[in-house]
Parts: sequence; C-alpha cells; structure tokens
Amino acid sequence: MALVRSHNKIKEDHHLIEIEGRKIPLIVRHHPRARRMILRLDMVGEGAVITIPANSSSSAALDFVHRKSSWLCQLLNEIGERVAFGDGVQIPFQGVQHLVRHRDDAYGGVWIEDGEINVAGDIEHLSRRLGDWLKKQARIRIKSLVHQKVKKINKTLSRITIRDTRTRWGSCSSKGSLSFSWRLIMAPPEILDYVVAHEVAHLVHMNHSPSFWNTVERLTENAKSGRAWLNDNGSILHRIG
Ligand SMILES: [Zn+2]
Repeated sequence: MALVRSHNKIKEDHHLIEIEGRKIPLIVRHHPRARRMILRLDMVGEGAVITIPANSSSSAALDFVHRKSSWLCQLLNEIGERVAFGDGVQIPFQGVQHLVRHRDDAYGGVWIEDGEINVAGDIEHLSRRLGDWLKKQARIRIKSLVHQKVKKINKTLSRITIRDTRTRWGSCSSKGSLSFSWRLIMAPPEILDYVVAHEVAHLVHMNHSPSFWNTVERLTENAKSGRAWLNDNGSILHRIG
C-alpha cells in the first residue's frame, strides 16, 4: 500500500488471464525485496496481483497463478457482487455493519441512529447523498488524526485530499500533501489510524526503510495488524457504493 516512492522502482506488467472461462486482470509486480511469490486479489476485488522476487520471470508467475487458479476463483466468488448504495443495504461504517434506511418522512440529510444510517430526501439522490456524507466523515476523521500525528513529529498540518483511489489507500507527495481514500471510513478505526500514521511518517522518511517503519510504530499501535487487514479485506471496501 501507499508505496509512492518505491512504486517507481517496482516494475509491473499487466496481463489478462482466463480461468474457468472467466477473464481476470492480473498484475505481475517485480519486487526487488520479495522473497517468494505472493498472490492476492487486487484492491478493487476484480482481478489479482502477484508479487514476485527479482529473479523470477513473468512466465513463472503466470504458471504459479494457473496452479492456484481454483483458489483464486474461490476468492473472487467469495468477495461477490458489488453492493450499490440503496435503501435496505448493509454497509460498514468504521468497521461496523449499518443498515441504510431511506427516510422520505424526514428532513436532515444523513444521520446515524440506533446503528442505522438514515438518508432523507428523494430516493434518487440517496446514493449521492450517502457517498457525500461518507466522504465528509472520512475527511473529518482523517484531518483530526493527521493533526494529532504531525504534532508528534514536529511538523505542521499539511494539505489533505480525499479521493476515490483504486490502487492505493493513501499517498504522500514530495511537497508533503497527503491523500487518502474515502473508503477507509468504512474500515475499523484502527485501520484508518494505521494508514494515516503511514502517510504522516512519509513526511519524515520518503521511503520504506527501517527508520520509516520505526516512525510509523511511534505514530500507531496498528502497523502490523493494519497492513494485514488491508491485504485481507481491503478489496471488499471497493465493492461498496
Ligand atoms: Zn508508503
């Protein structure tokens, strides 16, 4: 995740493979520090990414994927269909499932009550209103976390952008602007905390060196669990809305 700078050094090639009659986009990432091949779903849950060590070839990677094809298909099936925002669907908010309820009887935009997310107004605006509300909640929470964490490293609050990024959860530019996926507001709070710590730590270290990870660990208790959670569950967040 968020490998802004090291991304530049990692070569990627893109393939479209066919498994069980289904076309699946596959990215092969040639990672200089990878010690073995690691196959997982891509961030949006529609394809796969395989990370391979420098001394492995793309064709060896494709062989590996074909040997694991039934497992991969199972993962893609488990992740299931996209969940569009609508009345009666369940969506996670800060890691907890909430029922979305259209409230044409009420005014007041979007609000949480008794574990349900209520959306007032015309039904045709529900999806946009809910999306806007989630982005706003993401911005509020992220801004406050960035604020707390930059203080710990004696930096000032930098520019924050909230986006719908498809390949990374956050990034930090060379000028120090931070950018985050709004979808993190659906993840458990400690996961968002880790991603913010990760990007804020890039304000000190523009790499993923051991000193960088020391800084991350100074800023969050969730470094290990955050990375693991995003690898295992991150693509689900891209299936919603
Ligand atoms: Zn990073």
